Amino acid sequence: MHYDWESLADAVYRCRLPFLDVTVGLVQGVSDVLLIDCGTSLLEAAAIADDVRTLTGGTVTHLVMTHHHFDHILGSAGFGDAQMYAPGAVAEALTTRIGEVREQAIGYGADPAELGAVRAPQYRLQHADLDLGARRVHVEHPGRGHTDHDLIVVVPPTTPAQPAVLFCGDLVEESADPDIDADSDVRAWPLTLDRVLAVGGPDAVYVPGHGACVDAAFVRRQRDWLTARAADRRG
Ligand SMILES: [Zn+2]
Repeated sequence: MHYDWESLADAVYRCRLPFLDVTVGLVQGVSDVLLIDCGTSLLEAAAIADDVRTLTGGTVTHLVMTHHHFDHILGSAGFGDAQMYAPGAVAEALTTRIGEVREQAIGYGADPAELGAVRAPQYRLQHADLDLGARRVHVEHPGRGHTDHDLIVVVPPTTPAQPAVLFCGDLVEESADPDIDADSDVRAWPLTLDRVLAVGGPDAVYVPGHGACVDAAFVRRQRDWLTARAADRRG
């Protein structure tokens, strides 16, 4: 195995890539395998694909990209056979804006030699239900926040004893404060996290885009921190 994969629930995994501590999620159904985000480089993508074969015995059939930042999308060409789902902004980042997105990656320390071809998503969407074979996952845009298009992936439990798992993308971060940039909507973000909490409920495992898995109480604290930041900006 190239990376450490944490088991979050029955056939639900995630790893934290060493470069920028990005979360990559994995959900295995009876027939299909879903990957959530795909890292920055083709080297990372190849290592992930290798690990997926070891963990599941199969290849990635579905890829959801949560938002347009380079560390979540530039590995996409490493999963050439997968059906790719993402908001329109991700498709733009991987086509018309690719030069700028690659420059950002290099600015953060990515090796240009490891940035190769990219592949844009065939399915541009904000809501979807994906059937992985006896396992359905739900994809939705819970509202504006880190960007104006972040997706979450909701994995319901297979038995009452199992937790629900929510992949939150960068709407939630554990290893640092939430990343606010020019695309972010700090005023809307707390309401978006209320929606995330409503979807996941009190007992879900919340998987941040960067950092360790957290619980609902942590997400509420991050919501309150953002509410305070929004008040500062108004004041
Ligand atoms: Zn981001």
